[in-house]
Amino acid sequence: MEGTPKQPKNCSSLLEELVEEARQAPRGGQVADYIPALAEVEPDQLGIAVVELDGSVHTAGDANVPFSIQSISKIFGLAMAMSRTDDTLWERVRMEPSGQAFNSVVQLEWEHGIPRNPFINAGAIVIADVLTSRYSASKTAFLQYVRHLAGKESIGADHRVWESEKQHGNRNAALAYLMKSFGNIESEVSAVLDHYFFQCAVSMSCVDLAKSLSFLANKGVQPGSDERICDARSAHRINALLSTSGMYDQSGEFAFTVGLPAKSGVGGGIVAVVPDYGVICAWSPPLIRFGNPARAVSIITEFAQRLGLSVYH
Ligand code: GLU
Repeated sequence: MEGTPKQPKNCSSLLEELVEEARQAPRGGQVADYIPALAEVEPDQLGIAVVELDGSVHTAGDANVPFSIQSISKIFGLAMAMSRTDDTLWERVRMEPSGQAFNSVVQLEWEHGIPRNPFINAGAIVIADVLTSRYSASKTAFLQYVRHLAGKESIGADHRVWESEKQHGNRNAALAYLMKSFGNIESEVSAVLDHYFFQCAVSMSCVDLAKSLSFLANKGVQPGSDERICDARSAHRINALLSTSGMYDQSGEFAFTVGLPAKSGVGGGIVAVVPDYGVICAWSPPLIRFGNPARAVSIITEFAQRLGLSVYH
C-alpha cells in the first residue's frame, strides 16, 4: 500500500454521517431466513466500528450490539487450522474463487470433493474437520481463541441459532457427506457439522470483530499486546483469500469498488482489513444479491473511498 490512509479530522463523526446516510436510503434486501432463528433479528439495526492499529476505536450506530457472526467465523477457523497444519492443507482446499453460490453443491462433484476455497461453505467444512481432528475440544478451543483475540470473556455462541442451523442444515450436510465420499473429511460428519454450526452461531459486535482481527492488518501480530497470532506469510495468505473469495460471488465487484480484503456473513456483518491501518466492521441484517448485506457494504464502500484505503492504489 502506498503511503498512509488520509486521516479524517473526526473519524467518529464521519462514521455517524455515513450511518445516517445509509439509514435514509431504501433498506432493500431481506434478513436471512433459511436459518429460522436469524429471521427474528430486528432488520433496521446498523452499526460500524473502525479499530486502528494504535488502539483507537471509532464507532457509530449499533456498533456494540452482538450479532451472529456466521461466515465471518471462517476467518478464525482458517487461522486456527493453518497454525496446526502445513502446506498439505492446500491439497484438501484450494485458493481459487468459486464463481458459484456460497453453498453450491455442483462444483464440488465436478472437482472430486476438493472445495475451491476456505470461505465457501464446503471449504469451511473441511477446515472444521481439521479443527475437530486436531483439537480435543474444538468448540471450546474456538471460543477461547476468539475471546482471547477480542479480549472479552463474555463472547459465546447463541444456542438458539446453533440449534436452528443444525435442524435446517441439510445443504451443509449434503456438502459434508459428498466430501466424505471423496475421502476429504476425516472425522464423523455429525461432529464436523456440529463444530461448523457452533462457530457460525458465535455472537460478536462490530467492535469485537474489528479488534479481534486486527492481527491481519499488522502482519500477524495483535496490536496492543504485540502477541504473534500467525506468521506474516499466513496473514498475507488469509488476506489474499479474503480479497479473492471473502465476499462470495461479489468478491470481484468488491475488489473493483472498495479494494480491501473482506468477509461477509449471512448475519449481516462484514469485516474489511486495511493493511497497516486497522480493521473496519459494519453490520446490517438484510441481505441482497450473493448473500451480502447491502447497507453494510455501502457504508464500508463510502468510508474506504473517502479515505483512499484501497490496497490497489
Ligand atoms: N452458517 C451459514 C451457512 O452455513 C454461513 C453462511 C454465511 O454466513 O455466508 O449457511
